[in-house]
Amino acid sequence: MIRFAVQSKGRLNEESLKLLKDSGIDVDDTKRKFIGKASDFPLELLYLRDDDIPGVVAGGSADIGIVGFNEIAESGADVNVVRRLGFGKCRLSLAIPKNADYNGLEWFEGRSIATSYPSILRRFLQGKGISSSVREIRGSVEIAPAAGIADSIFDIVSSGGTLVSNGLKEVESVLESEAVLICRKDLPEDLKPVLDSILFRFDAVQESRGKKNVLMNIPTGRLSEAMSLLPSMRSPTVMPLAIEGWSSIHTVVDDSTLWETVERLKRIGAEGILILNVDKVID
Ligand code: ATP
Ligand code: MG
Repeated sequence: MIRFAVQSKGRLNEESLKLLKDSGIDVDDTKRKFIGKASDFPLELLYLRDDDIPGVVAGGSADIGIVGFNEIAESGADVNVVRRLGFGKCRLSLAIPKNADYNGLEWFEGRSIATSYPSILRRFLQGKGISSSVREIRGSVEIAPAAGIADSIFDIVSSGGTLVSNGLKEVESVLESEAVLICRKDLPEDLKPVLDSILFRFDAVQESRGKKNVLMNIPTGRLSEAMSLLPSMRSPTVMPLAIEGWSSIHTVVDDSTLWETVERLKRIGAEGILILNVDKVID
């Protein structure tokens, strides 16, 4: 049985459980429970505060877990980061009142900065040779300047909307973060195959994200033109149709180029174009 830590509620909870579910690991979703058991996989889920996950995995009470990379950087927990998971993307940035004149990092010299991430901030300031007064607060960091608690803040930013609505502007981005899968360093031998199986499934799910399966019919005479428009994982599958002079193409296209590609194919005579979701991709 592998013990897997996820955030009990909050920004990473839903995506973490979805990734498990898409990987065929179904856990009864009673979030109030501290521990859940997967019905069809040797896995127990531990629902925790995100701040606690790095330490619980480092200490071996959980074997693996999903947490924001920012929490690993802050805690300095001794764990292996085994995968970046592509969700929960954000950055840790310095922000100052929007009307302040910013002249570079020197601005922070002798000024105070409110943050919930004091270790990352201190390390950064030290590396840059800046001395500021770091004021640790647990939440509502963005109101600190208006409340007179500090001159500036160091906090999580994604769109920047929260900063703007609090009269602040981002001036330095210090750390990029996303959700990561972490593993304890001394994972017991008998759990290694379980971890491998989880990684295999996670990779297949992640690989399928942002991809579509595209099927279409095309006059056989336009095949080579169509092929030149199609990126594919290897090469598109081409099959003759029962009707003379027509072929069918099956391929995989990235969401980012999907519409452009389909419009071009239509222009060279493609018909009956089907765009289907890709569930898993196993290379
Ligand atoms: P907990 O109750 O578990 O301690 P929390 O309030 O500390 O939760 P959340 O706000 O749920 O934490 O954020 C969890 C993680 O999600 C953060 O550590 C960060 O990695 C990521 N995150 C936070 N804010 C954003 C955001 N605005 N956009 C994207 N990801 C974010
Ligand atoms: Mg937290």
